[in-house]
Amino acid sequence: MYDYCVIGAGIVGLATALEISRLKPDAKIVVLDKEAGPATHQTGHNSGVIHSGLYYKPGSLKARLCREGAMAMKAFCIENAVPYREIGKLIVATSPVEVERMQALRRNAAENGIAAQEIGAGELRELEPNIEGLAALRIGESAIVSYRRVCEVMVGKLATAGVRIEFGSAVRAIVESGRDVAIETGKGRVTCRWLIACAGLQADRIAAIAGVALEHRIVPFRGEYFDVVRPDTATLVSHMIYPVPDPALPFLGIHLTPMIDGRLTVGPNAVLSLARESYAGNWPSLHDMAAYASFPGFWKMLRANLSSGIREARSSLFRGRYLQECRKYCPSLQLGDLKPYPPGIRAQAVSRDGALVHDFLFKRTSRSLHVLNAPSPAATSSIPIGRMIAETLGIAVSNRHGVPA
Ligand SMILES: Cc1cc2nc3c(=O)[nH]c(=O)nc-3n(C[C@H](O)[C@H](O)[C@H](O)COP(=O)(O)OP(=O)(O)OC[C@H]3O[C@@H](n4cnc5c(N)ncnc54)[C@H](O)[C@@H]3O)c2cc1C
Repeated sequence: MYDYCVIGAGIVGLATALEISRLKPDAKIVVLDKEAGPATHQTGHNSGVIHSGLYYKPGSLKARLCREGAMAMKAFCIENAVPYREIGKLIVATSPVEVERMQALRRNAAENGIAAQEIGAGELRELEPNIEGLAALRIGESAIVSYRRVCEVMVGKLATAGVRIEFGSAVRAIVESGRDVAIETGKGRVTCRWLIACAGLQADRIAAIAGVALEHRIVPFRGEYFDVVRPDTATLVSHMIYPVPDPALPFLGIHLTPMIDGRLTVGPNAVLSLARESYAGNWPSLHDMAAYASFPGFWKMLRANLSSGIREARSSLFRGRYLQECRKYCPSLQLGDLKPYPPGIRAQAVSRDGALVHDFLFKRTSRSLHVLNAPSPAATSSIPIGRMIAETLGIAVSNRHGVPA
């Protein structure tokens, strides 16, 4: 019998297992993942940004945990020789409406304790000669990293600490009793005293097989990227370049991001995905589509976001449309500069009334804790999310955070 079982070797599951093993070095801990290695889903298919936390509603879990997470992630990287670079971010306004939204964003950043400097068109051109806009917000502390690399290091640290990591173990059934939790996997049965489920795109299914009553479903949103390849790629931009986001949506818009491996990507858009885990070719899964089509909240969400949905679908179907979005701030980009790059698929919780759940969402039972919504910036925030889960389960000494009831 294990003391703790964590489902999911994405960054949230691994950071949680690491925090528990740090606090309880003698505990028997196992991490189960259905894939052959860590970071196979969202964590290994993202933009690699350590966000500062300026976008999020003041007082929300996202705002607090992102701020703490950015500091914790950078400290983790320094301690474990994981390369990261603090290249800074520019959020570029290209219309008067966006200038107003950008100013609202600056006020939000101030409330969240983040230094965001407003700059004019001239200064923007001096900083980034290939970028055009009416004004921009400059956030110096935003950084880039490979979250896949972070996870590889976390796996190594867990193994050293004696934590068992079972890859290729798909969880199929969960039975919770007063004394323990029995978990059926493709490789056999695991029992534990406490279960922590961090299953990302499958979070609602794992909760459902454990008998947890849910008010929402995971709807997958595909984020398509391109690799920008042209003779001046290395000098095209020196900061991350973001558009001003639509405040109604939890997505940040198509951005230009220098990656830690030296590449430059543009993306991601946010298109309804036909499957939760289909990366190559967007092959549909009837099982996944039926799951959202049978959920009333999905149709309400679709109706409420019809125009942005159509815009995103066009950007997916027609590369010229996608390019138009990027050319608003980087006019020299050409279709021929955009080469294929692997997409990511976001796990986005949608509630019964059709609302996209913006904040992180957790649910406790007597012996389990389910992470039900951990969208961006959960990679940035993963270390304090792990700490908060440990505190909620009474493992950590202080209960400053605790998962909200
Ligand atoms: C396109 C995109 C861009 C993003 N950009 C950023 C960014 O720049 N910065 C940032 O901070 N965040 C970003 N995010 C968000 C971030 O990637 C996620 O919030 C984070 O990776 C979530 O981690 P996770 O561990 O919860 O989920 P995942 O990484 O999806 O891990 C879940 C794990 O659970 C396992 N699992 C599922 N079902 C089972 C089962 N039945 N049995 C066993 N194992 C199971 C899966 O195999 C998987 O390994 C982005 C996300 C996307 C998709």
